Amino acid sequence: MLRFLILVLLVAAAWLVLTRIAGTSKRPRADDEASAAGEEQVLACGLCGLHVPESEGLRVGEVFYCCEAHRRQANGPHPD
Ligand SMILES: [Zn+2]
Repeated sequence: MLRFLILVLLVAAAWLVLTRIAGTSKRPRADDEASAAGEEQVLACGLCGLHVPESEGLRVGEVFYCCEAHRRQANGPHPD
């Protein structure tokens, strides 16, 4: 009976070590793939709050806008 318990403990310990190794080696690899694919940042419009991919909107300094109309509306009628 004692031998059986030791065997079970050894199998459990081996399983824990193997899953831990698999878990640590998988996580950073997934992050690398996401950054390598160039995942685009989605930003909220400074006027309406709509979330738009960075390439589809406009950035004025630190503020991001979903479209030219909202950029103009936020900055007032003056074009400067
Ligand atoms: Zn907007």
